[in-house]
Amino acid sequence: MGSFKRGIETEYVGAAKNAGIEKMPATGYVVLPFDRPNGQESLCVAAGSRVKKGELLVRGDLLHEPVFSSVSGSVVSVGEVMTLRGKAQAVTVENDFKEEWHPSVQPFSKPLLRAAPEEIREFLKNKGIENLDGEGLSLERKLSLAAGKAKEVIVNCLECEPYLHGVHSLLIHEAAAVAGGARILAAALGVKRISFVMDLKRRDEAVSLRNQLKGKNLSARFRFLSAKYPQQEERQMILAVKHREIPLSVAPERLGIASFGVHTVYAVYQAFVTGMPQVERVVTVEGDCVLQPSNLRVPLGAPLSELISRCGGFSTSPGRVLIGGPFSGKEEKNLQIPVTGEIKAILAFAEKETETAASCVRCGRCALVCPQRLTPTSLARLYRKNKIGGRDRRFLSDCRECGCCSAVCPVKIPLLKRIRAGKEAFSEKKYESEREKRNGNPT
Ligand code: SF4
Ligand code: SF4
Repeated sequence: MGSFKRGIETEYVGAAKNAGIEKMPATGYVVLPFDRPNGQESLCVAAGSRVKKGELLVRGDLLHEPVFSSVSGSVVSVGEVMTLRGKAQAVTVENDFKEEWHPSVQPFSKPLLRAAPEEIREFLKNKGIENLDGEGLSLERKLSLAAGKAKEVIVNCLECEPYLHGVHSLLIHEAAAVAGGARILAAALGVKRISFVMDLKRRDEAVSLRNQLKGKNLSARFRFLSAKYPQQEERQMILAVKHREIPLSVAPERLGIASFGVHTVYAVYQAFVTGMPQVERVVTVEGDCVLQPSNLRVPLGAPLSELISRCGGFSTSPGRVLIGGPFSGKEEKNLQIPVTGEIKAILAFAEKETETAASCVRCGRCALVCPQRLTPTSLARLYRKNKIGGRDRRFLSDCRECGCCSAVCPVKIPLLKRIRAGKEAFSEKKYESEREKRNGNPT
């Protein structure tokens, strides 16, 4: 048992913390973003094309996952939309509600025990599974880097931020699929050992997993941590379990550490047994303004407003809507943006975050909890600068946007919000210059 020194203690709260997973019916249209410099060249469809569920819309490349349609219907447009990360190119598909699957959606053709690791990796490579559990490499990159180096598969079952229940609901209600996904990943890397890293307070999650793995010719190990936020992040989890600090510039897989989050493991199982590429994910809808807080399995590309309607709508007009957890979530006013792979939760709270007029009292708490050992106050000042130098940029990119600093500030200075404003100023400029290049209009 262990933990790491920084971060903050949290509690598991929320009305849907013990709820199962409900499948949300498909929506009238889906918007599937594909932001990448050569996006137009990678497109496999155009406005007017008929598509089936699971059909490839945009080819993948070294840095981007392929994009598949999450409904059957017709492509109504290909163009710029707003997403959680700002403007992006996207394919919009109008649903015909026929639920017709594309013929390419086929399960893996062999029993797992007779398949070679390379065959499994090749099969999963074409399923568009991105890292559904947070920042990090896509599944394909993780597997290709870890192949031949990893000695075990680590399943990261930690979910330390309040109001997030996706991981817990999968571990309790889809234990067979999570155990199956872990076995598939072990076979894909040719290893026989699986470690499940779990929270000491959630021992119930281990019971059903243990039962599912009995007699499977595998060594399954359960490691319990006294978890605190943000220990669910890959590097923090590795530090607690392996006592190794991995710099942000090094992928853990290069050092032979192959860890996967529960949402990703579940997607692997779905892909393997049904052939389904990544076209859906589990999203928690929570908060004191949501009438029926729930964990929903939703098609990618569905507008956020549809998820809220599915949960009975708002009981009262929310003061703020966060995408993600209460510490790291991003306030979002546009509820027409689509669900993308990175969206784990929508939280609606009555209380508004008000800009404080108070000044920093120099207590140093924000720096004490920062898992990256940064000085959040200095980073938070950068958004006011017109030009941000190379050193500051590096510090900005080291920030994992965990929000620990804002959460502990006694005078409620919105440090994370300001740090993000600095980061967004950069990405907006980057996007504009890429778009100009695409349009042949370099400045
Ligand atoms: S500066 Fe960034 S990494 Fe550090 S606590 Fe704040 S949000 Fe987290
Ligand atoms: S926690 Fe708040 S008051 Fe304390 S040093 Fe950080 S910004 Fe200043």
